[in-house]
Amino acid sequence: MEIKYRNKEIETMSREELAKVQLAGLKETVKYALRTPFYKERLRNVGIESPEDLKTLADIKKIPFTTKNDLRDGFPEGFLAVPKSEVVRLHASSGTTGIPTVIYHNQHDIDRWTELVARAVSLIGATNEDILQNMMTYGLFTGGLALHYGGERLGMMVVPTSSGNTRRQFSFLRDFKATVVHATPSYMLHMYSKIEEEGFKLSDFHIKKVIAGAEPYSADIAKKIENLYGVDVYNNYGLSEMNGPGVAIECVYKNGMHVSEDAFYLEIIDPETDQEVEDGVPGEVVLSILCRQATPLLRYRTHDLSRVIPGQCECGRTFRRLERIKGRTDDMLIINGVNVFPSQIEEILMRMPEVGTNYLIVVDKNGALDQVTVKTEINSEVFSDDARDLNALKARIRDRMKATIFISPNVELHQSNSLPVAEGKAKRVIDNRKI
Ligand code: AMP
Ligand code: ZN
Repeated sequence: MEIKYRNKEIETMSREELAKVQLAGLKETVKYALRTPFYKERLRNVGIESPEDLKTLADIKKIPFTTKNDLRDGFPEGFLAVPKSEVVRLHASSGTTGIPTVIYHNQHDIDRWTELVARAVSLIGATNEDILQNMMTYGLFTGGLALHYGGERLGMMVVPTSSGNTRRQFSFLRDFKATVVHATPSYMLHMYSKIEEEGFKLSDFHIKKVIAGAEPYSADIAKKIENLYGVDVYNNYGLSEMNGPGVAIECVYKNGMHVSEDAFYLEIIDPETDQEVEDGVPGEVVLSILCRQATPLLRYRTHDLSRVIPGQCECGRTFRRLERIKGRTDDMLIINGVNVFPSQIEEILMRMPEVGTNYLIVVDKNGALDQVTVKTEINSEVFSDDARDLNALKARIRDRMKATIFISPNVELHQSNSLPVAEGKAKRVIDNRKI
């Protein structure tokens, strides 16, 4: 197979050369980190007063891990390393409570990120001849804008349909002949089940490649999408704390996701001991971003579980490959690509005076899509009320969740003391999905 590199020199550099690039990137990141209130203190506490205090890459281990809670505590500007006037964009993702995780970017950051995404799209073998229909949400979530700019940088025509509106997705796919689609795997399956119903045929479409990510999925699901549509599916991994898409993607060999190691420093750690494990051993993914000025993040604990696939890839790239994400070390749920922490649902419920103390979150598959049911007890005085009031309360809970955490759950109201009470630690989530 002929491999087209976007930048062969970078993509195939030796590990020794890569280490030099990474050390330079790390020093640059530390330079910016020292300008933030958060890291100024953190780094000084471990004796890092200047980038020159990092002599080798191994010195990164002196730096403590950064967590989502650190980002929350630093909200809104504790991690900002450049003057506000220099910032050109922000993105936000779910925090564990109502406070989101915010990442600021200056123009330098957006340029570097855009190039990473353009390269990611080229890894799957796409070129400027391809047309990209981008079905990921445009907005605070990074998936839409990242692929939009990255696709344009590669010279593709980008069709920015954003998410949802399946019938319109179909008519745009037919009329503008997208050859590459960016979507969540669950949406690809959902769309398939709607083709006939919406009056289309598979032969109306021209899709060859699907960039699928934002949520965990098995190799079986990838194969299923490939067989149903007659396409190749490429797993694409990113998180907003590390910009978003552009962190890791499968190449044409579809055997693990090459991490953009010139821009990210990857460690896999044992989440129990916090010690780094060797390539091949599963653990938690920890990433440091080496290409961003406005919001430097060092040794960020992603909570995603994976491992490095040992050995060289046939494509000739030297960047290591991550196996598909196997799960999380925390309780974050991913609902149709949207991150939700049970604590966010709890916070919304507990702020409503009608709601009692016990609740349960159940996640199921409704066809190809995820469906959340929130079962909550309500106070006895409210329960005896009219059914219309109960329906209005249900609608209010749903609307509040839709507005703040972007999910539309089924809401079930239960009488006080009617939901099961756990004997030990409360079990608030029942996830019936299988990856
Ligand atoms: P966000 O910061 O909102 O973009 O969410 C990032 C999270 O989505 C990651 O930490 C993962 O848990 C999940 N995620 C993103 N891409 C993938 C993927 N390809 N496979 C599995 N999980 C993913
Ligand atoms: Zn490869």
